Amino acid sequence: MNNETVMLQTVKCCPEPSASHLLNPDFIFNERNLGHYQASLLQGIALIQKSVAAANKPFSGILPHELAAQFRAVDLRQTCGLAEALAELEQLYLNHAVYFHHPQYVAHLNCPIAIPAILAELLLVSVNSSVDTWDQSAGGTLIEQKLLDWTTEIIGLGGQADGIFTSGGTQSNLMAMLLARDSCCAKNAGYSTKTHGLPVDFGKLRIFTSQASHFSIQKAAAILGLGYDAVVPVACDRYFKMDVAALAHELDRALANGLIPMAVVATAGTTDFGSIDPLPELAQLCQVYGLWLHVDAAYGCGLLVSPKFRHWLAGIECADSVTVDYHKAFLQPVSCSAFLVKDKRHLAVVTHHADYLNPLSQANDGVPNLVNKSIQTTKRFDALKLWLTLRVMGAAQLGAAFDACIHLAKQAYLLLLSEPSIETLHHPQLSTLVFRYRPARQADGAELDKANAAIRKALFRSGEAVIAGTKVHGQQYLKFTLLNPLTTIQDLQAVLKLILFYGRQYGHADDLPNAVNDDFVKEACDA
Ligand SMILES: *Cc1c(COP(=O)(O)O)cnc(C)c1O
Repeated sequence: MNNETVMLQTVKCCPEPSASHLLNPDFIFNERNLGHYQASLLQGIALIQKSVAAANKPFSGILPHELAAQFRAVDLRQTCGLAEALAELEQLYLNHAVYFHHPQYVAHLNCPIAIPAILAELLLVSVNSSVDTWDQSAGGTLIEQKLLDWTTEIIGLGGQADGIFTSGGTQSNLMAMLLARDSCCAKNAGYSTKTHGLPVDFGKLRIFTSQASHFSIQKAAAILGLGYDAVVPVACDRYFKMDVAALAHELDRALANGLIPMAVVATAGTTDFGSIDPLPELAQLCQVYGLWLHVDAAYGCGLLVSPKFRHWLAGIECADSVTVDYHKAFLQPVSCSAFLVKDKRHLAVVTHHADYLNPLSQANDGVPNLVNKSIQTTKRFDALKLWLTLRVMGAAQLGAAFDACIHLAKQAYLLLLSEPSIETLHHPQLSTLVFRYRPARQADGAELDKANAAIRKALFRSGEAVIAGTKVHGQQYLKFTLLNPLTTIQDLQAVLKLILFYGRQYGHADDLPNAVNDDFVKEACDA
C-alpha cells in the first residue's frame, strides 16, 4: 500500500470535497514526482531540439488568419496526453515561432540567450521562489541584491545606490518617473504624492526627453496622471542625440511659462538609432536646474561590460536613476531587467508595510524584503539567470558579445553604403542601422514609402529574414537591430540580397506570376 492510498483511506472518514478524486497528484511538482518531472522535461527538451534544428529560417512566414484557423480546432475543455499536447504545440507554436537566435533575425532588440541562463530559468521555475519577501525566497533575495549592488557598482552610482529587478525597461522607466515625480513634489510643495496624491498644480509638471526616446516615457506620464502633454520632446542633433542647447531652451521656456520641470530623461542607446545622449552635459544641466536625471540605458547597458566602449557611457554615474535591460544586451531571456537609483531613500515611495507580508517590524530587524522596493508584489526570480551567466561565463564574455554586435554594425554600414539602391540614414552608433531601398531614379514620396513597407512585409512573409521598419521625418525606413554576436556579415549580405530582390519585385509587381504576386507583394501594397 503506497502513501497515497493510506492518505485517501484516512481522509475517507471526513467529508470529502467532491472533486478531489479528479486531481492526479502525479502532476504536482514534489519529491515523489521527480521521475515524472524529469521525463516531462526531457520530452520538452527533445521537442525544442527538434524545432530549433529544423528552423532554417527565423520565421515560417505564416499569416495571423492562417494560424488562427488552426487554433479553432483546439477545445480547451478536452485534455490529451503530454505527447499529444506537445505535438499540437509544435504545430501551433514552435513551427511558427519567431526565432531570435537565427542569424537572419535582425529586427528588434531581442538577443540570443546564454545557455547558463536557460538552466537558471529551469531552476528558478522549479523552486518557484518569489523574491518579494525573505520568507518566500531566502537566498534568492540575496542573489538579487548582490546583482543589484554589482550593477550599481559598474555604473558607478556610489555607496547610497540601490535598485530592484523589474519586468522590463517599461516598468523601470515608470518607476523612474514615479520617483522623480514624488521627489519633485516633495521639493516644490513639501508634499508626498505617496500619501496625499497629486498636488493641485500637478498639471504644471514637465518631463524633458529627446524626440528619439522610447515611448514608455509617454506611457509612464499617462499612467502617473500627468498625461502625454507633460512630456516635452526635445530636438535631436543630426546624430539623433538630444541637443543640449535645445534642452536648455525648452527648460527656460517652461520656467518662463510657470511650468515645473520634473525630470530629464536621457537615452543611452535609442531604440531606432542606438544614439547616446550627451550624458556629461545633460548631468551638468540637471545639476544647474536642480532636476532629476534618468538615464534609460535599456539598450546601451551592454556598454557597461564592454571591454572597448565602456567610455561611451561616461556621465551615467551622475544619473539619479538608471534603466538597464539585461534581456536586451546581456544575452538574457525575457524578462530580466533592473531599475537603479543613486539615493536609495527615494525607493520609499513604493514601500508599504502590510502586517501579513512585510511588517515594519521586519524592516526594523533588518529582514531584507525586496517588495519594499518594488511596484510588484509576487515577483519572478529573474536575477538567477544573470547570476548563473556571470558565474559560468563572466561579464567579459557578455561585453565581448556586445562589442561584436557594434563591430558588425560598422561592417554592415559599409556593406549598405556599397549598394547603390540603398540609402543609409545615419552612421551606426551601437548596433542598429536605419536605411531604405531607393533605386536610382526613385523620387522621395509615397511610392518609395510603399516600396519599403512592402519589402519588409514580403521578407516577413517569406520568413527568410526578419527586419524592422520605422518612420523618420514621416518617411518609411527599414532597420537592422544587431544583437546576435554570431551573425556574420555574410548573413547580412544574404538579407540585403533579399531586400533588393523584393524591392525590385515591388517595382514590377504587375509582371509577377500570380502566386508570387499574391504571397509577397500584393498584400504589402494594399497595406
Ligand atoms: C526596449 C526599450 C525600452 C522598453 O523596455 P522593455 O524591456 O521592452 O519594457 C525602454 N527604453 C528603451 C530605450 C528601449 O530600447
